[in-house]
Amino acid sequence: MIATLFSWSRCKWVGALVALTVSLGAQEPTPYLPVAETPFDFRAGWTLDEALPAPETVLGYAVGEAYADYGAVLRLVDRYRGSERLMIEPTGMTNERRPMQVLVISSPENLARLEEIKAANQRLVDGRAPLSGRALDRAVAKQPIIVWLGYNIHGDEAAGTEAAMQVLYTLLASRSAEVEALLRDVVVVMNPCQNPDGRERFVVWANAHGIGRPERFAWEKENPWNVQGRYNHYYFDLNRDMIALSQVESRNTAAAYLEWMPQVAADHHGETKEYFFPPAMLPINPQLPREQTERWQDVFGRANAAAFDAQHWLYYVRDDFDIFYPGYWDSWPSLQGATGMTYETSGGGKRGRNYRRDDGTTMTLRQAIAKHFVASMTTIRTAAANRDARLRDFHAAFVDAVAVGRQGEMQQVFLPGLPFEHPLSALLRGQGIEVQQLNERVRLTGARDFEGRDVSEIELAPGTLVVDLAQPRGPLARALLQTHSQMDAAFVERQLAKVERNRERGDNAPEDDYEFYDQTAWSLPLLFGVEAYQTATPVDLASVATTARSKSGLPPVAVKPALSVKDATAWVLPVDQAGMKERALSLLRAGYRVSAAVKPLQVGNQSFPAGSLVVRAERNPADVVARLGPFSLDGQAAGVVPVHGTFTEDGSTGVGSVAMMALKVPKVIVAAGDPVTPASYGAMYHLLDTLGVVDYVPVAADRLGSLDLSGFNVVILPSAWSGRWSDAFDEDGRAHLRSWMEQGGTLICLGGAAEFAVDADTGWTDTRLVGVADGEDEEVAFDDQVLPLPGALLRATIEPEHFLSFGYAQTELPYFADGDAFFQPSTTGTNVVRFADENLWVSGHIWPENTERLLARAAAVIDEPIGDGHLILFSDEPGYRAMWHASVPMLLNALLYAPGLQNDVGSYVR
Ligand SMILES: [Zn+2]
Repeated sequence: MIATLFSWSRCKWVGALVALTVSLGAQEPTPYLPVAETPFDFRAGWTLDEALPAPETVLGYAVGEAYADYGAVLRLVDRYRGSERLMIEPTGMTNERRPMQVLVISSPENLARLEEIKAANQRLVDGRAPLSGRALDRAVAKQPIIVWLGYNIHGDEAAGTEAAMQVLYTLLASRSAEVEALLRDVVVVMNPCQNPDGRERFVVWANAHGIGRPERFAWEKENPWNVQGRYNHYYFDLNRDMIALSQVESRNTAAAYLEWMPQVAADHHGETKEYFFPPAMLPINPQLPREQTERWQDVFGRANAAAFDAQHWLYYVRDDFDIFYPGYWDSWPSLQGATGMTYETSGGGKRGRNYRRDDGTTMTLRQAIAKHFVASMTTIRTAAANRDARLRDFHAAFVDAVAVGRQGEMQQVFLPGLPFEHPLSALLRGQGIEVQQLNERVRLTGARDFEGRDVSEIELAPGTLVVDLAQPRGPLARALLQTHSQMDAAFVERQLAKVERNRERGDNAPEDDYEFYDQTAWSLPLLFGVEAYQTATPVDLASVATTARSKSGLPPVAVKPALSVKDATAWVLPVDQAGMKERALSLLRAGYRVSAAVKPLQVGNQSFPAGSLVVRAERNPADVVARLGPFSLDGQAAGVVPVHGTFTEDGSTGVGSVAMMALKVPKVIVAAGDPVTPASYGAMYHLLDTLGVVDYVPVAADRLGSLDLSGFNVVILPSAWSGRWSDAFDEDGRAHLRSWMEQGGTLICLGGAAEFAVDADTGWTDTRLVGVADGEDEEVAFDDQVLPLPGALLRATIEPEHFLSFGYAQTELPYFADGDAFFQPSTTGTNVVRFADENLWVSGHIWPENTERLLARAAAVIDEPIGDGHLILFSDEPGYRAMWHASVPMLLNALLYAPGLQNDVGSYVR
């Protein structure tokens, strides 16, 4: 069973999966005749100005002999400061305080009028004011085409930044007539390193241990767990983050990108078997202008092909990389109007400085850099040659976008009850999408919610947020918001045919891989779990909406308690208000006492939902009052409610009731290192750091089976393939964790760890996976096996009276389901989240005749009481990619309530 089948790279199998897929026992190739390699000459044909030092001179090594650490990259850029062809624009800092920058390279004449060029370019983005005829001719006549070149977003694909330095030098130093002409027609905006922190981890390690051995099993090719240079500081894959914009590198670069709005964007990766460039493969995101997208991918693809053919280099197209998921650095620029492209070089990085191919020939780092160099330069040339036509198409796409926004079922989206500063609104605005706000009450008829249900009539209060799809970035807004993005039928047919073939194959025959590259569902209203409506009959917003379009000038966040909080018996933190759990965790950590009402709470005439948090004056030092102030993460400070007496006007549970339970400070261990998937660890690392209210210690996973856990009450096992989790714990280790749970510990298992937890051999629970036989050697028929879901959203219900559900107002939750590991309902614990009886599909790809049949009423989140403690199972990762926000409160509930709520309060909390 594979829980994280789709966590592989934009650039093929890497990261934690590499150790599994590289066969260390592979035979050495037969000694074929040697092939002499002529090292690529980076200087040939460019007429270079000798006054400007080449990278080799500044860095002190020949191209491909080593990697430049980030300080050296900055030093090189600094040496070129003052070039009349270069402008350096800082974009921000990384988590580890490395400065990021974009390098603007063009002719001196263009650099002198950059503001004018940017303004004219933004004029082309304004699809509401179409240009045609002479006006359009004038608008493009003197306008350079803007080419974005991004490198090394995956830090260990380190040929990228090395190539960037060669491209930079060549463009600045060449005195050839060709380059002078190119720079008159093109503004190159180069992002020499999108992931400085990850690259630095990799480069320091690779320079320290690399001796250039070509053998695939050489130690220098085994990027250790805590290096994993692919990821950023928080082990996030930045080439998935353009939906969530959760990472500082994404935000820094998105802001620069929106300022420039390029027509062409190439993102340089590695390492594939041969070099890859577009045309991309299916599926293509349905919001892209298909004809235009395919035509320009073909133009750039054929130009790269000609340049590679001239060198007699191999390459491939179409075979691997789709542009469906909007969070990549090819699909996202494409949805921003550019020709967005992924380039993958075939050496360097994880393949080391030398890599022996199947046929005994060697791929060198220098060759890998050379191929990126040639592709980058070809991209600039091709952009210049097509400047006029590409600029016209760029404008046409934004004009069409406004018109397309007035078609179809979703023409406007309404988000009631959210402040303008809500993270969902900020996320849309951070991508350049216009968000407006109603200033009058609007009655909406014939609308539909985001789970596809018709809503005959709804009244929307003033303040409701509105996204009108008839805007220049309407297609991007639609791609991010809409419930489901349709995949190409031909692609889906091909996957279904693979199911048929796999069904027919013998047990030992290898199965055909399914081609889903990544998650297939990401609708933001569903991932945030907010109320949202769409309409096919648009409201005339001119009369009822304020146009709040600018990125800057947001109103300041007003945070103050609604009521005076002094001189009270107790204070209630209503659990259904944003930020209250974080506030309670912060108080607990600081040493104050906080209780929870395990039943709905009455204060005078007011009632609060179960799980509401209570701070009692007589149980705390007097200065607790000063600590009740707002700490809300997202600026939504709801009021703390003071209680002046505990007599209840109605109901039985007041703040003096027996249903008040003292909470314990969570002392948390997060498992790290093998076998944990770095991205799963990273999501937890980022979440806990961002919350900033939970003490946690990352501990090597394989130590947990023998470590003294008595000082801790929560252990989190992030995801990994379940088979690999079983390697981390021997029988004693499993018994050790079980005994700690029996004494009150809470073990939270995510994804592959949950799969391991329910394995019969683990012996922690009787709960089993769907499609897995109880007996050890029983085979399960192919049709009873769950086919792996590529990140879909399924309809699920929440058990309302459980502590993991505290604070959820709704009883339904669109559940982000990935992989093939889901639970048969537990008969000994609580099935807190279960899939619906029928009609499970909400968004993304599901398998006909399989997903809905096998997963109906299956469990996705389970709390298993074990002695005084808890085993909490999540089939998928709460807070996945800092994108699935609706699940985060459930994880917070586990941290906040589970350590304090012993199982003997079962009469209150099931
Ligand atoms: Zn990559």
